[in-house]
Amino acid sequence: MYELNEIIKTKKPHVCGSNEWKVIRVGADIKLECLGCKRIIMLPTYELDKKIKK
Ligand SMILES: [Zn+2]
Repeated sequence: MYELNEIIKTKKPHVCGSNEWKVIRVGADIKLECLGCKRIIMLPTYELDKKIKK
């Protein structure tokens, strides 16, 4: 599970070069804000599980 305001790291960096994201919404879909460019993305939780660095 992910917690609100938790900082997570993805295996692949975002287009801006940062690989750190802040969780801003949790649920069936999860919303992440890129800490580099502040862009917001939304994706299903199971998709995120595959992308994050454990
Ligand atoms: Zn970014």
